[in-house]
Amino acid sequence: MNSPESVAENAAEAPVCSAKGCRADAVWVLAWNNPKLHTPERRKTWLACDGHREHLSSFLGVRGFLKDVVTLAEWESPDSPHA
Ligand SMILES: [Zn+2]
Repeated sequence: MNSPESVAENAAEAPVCSAKGCRADAVWVLAWNNPKLHTPERRKTWLACDGHREHLSSFLGVRGFLKDVVTLAEWESPDSPHA
């Protein structure tokens, strides 16, 4: 049997863009913090594809929430300075 569920499982493993309706592979990690809800060290993350990086980062940026924008590879790297 050729179940479509195996495709969905594979898709769940690959991080996808957080933009509404976008299923593209995430390339960027936007680290943000809402000082009204989160302690200063807390980081929420959104994932973005190349096409939505600017859109999502300006959404967070105008609210003063955006802390950092790094590539997904950089974010997951143990050498990254985000300890
Ligand atoms: Zn996207």
